[in-house]
Amino acid sequence: MVAPRNPIEPAGRRRQPVREYFHDIYQTVRTILIGMRITLKYCFAKTITVQYPDVAPALQPRYRGFHFYEIEKCIACDLCAKACPVDCIYIEKTGPRKIDKETNIAVGGAMTRYAIDYAKCMFCALCCDPCPTDCIHMGNIHDMSGYTRKDMIVEFTELAKAGLQTPQPLWMQKEHLPDWAAEKKEAWEEFEFSHDKLTQQNDRRREEMVKAMVEQKKK
Ligand code: SF4
Ligand code: SF4
Repeated sequence: MVAPRNPIEPAGRRRQPVREYFHDIYQTVRTILIGMRITLKYCFAKTITVQYPDVAPALQPRYRGFHFYEIEKCIACDLCAKACPVDCIYIEKTGPRKIDKETNIAVGGAMTRYAIDYAKCMFCALCCDPCPTDCIHMGNIHDMSGYTRKDMIVEFTELAKAGLQTPQPLWMQKEHLPDWAAEKKEAWEEFEFSHDKLTQQNDRRREEMVKAMVEQKKK
């Protein structure tokens, strides 16, 4: 019986079956050795234990952590939810919303729910790109814990009522925090990761966040 031809080999260069047999053995041994070399390198490397949370984790600038969400700019268009490959974004509103061009704030129906189930989220960022008002972003924290799967659902509307745009790890609610965590918490509370007209007006932003959950007249 003639062995089927490898489709990626150019015509006229077919290997002999015996030669192909030994070539396959060679490739198998070679790839195992390459893998083992990498494994052995780590077996003898010096182990490093990062003393998190006392020491800040070394996250890259484009790290995709738990989202931060600017509710006052959200028009509840569902584009993020439709783009999500695992259907883990839940949005509820009382009516259509649109951006008021003067203020860059969304008006119309009330946002009654914006939630993400982090038991399902795979941090792919596909929800961020289609957002027409640039109000959902990948954040810069990797840490969240809970006792049940339900604890992994973050209700961003509830966070907004407390003037927050992103979930915070439980331990960050303690009084005495390591310096890096205190700085990060302050940056969140001062909306340093937002990039629009309200950035320098924190009180006004807090008001707009709460207003987003109440029906606003369209201009
Ligand atoms: S990061 Fe990916 S999986 Fe997570 S909510 Fe966005 S689209 Fe869905
Ligand atoms: S795509 Fe943006 S504006 Fe539309 S619902 Fe999602 S977060 Fe809100």
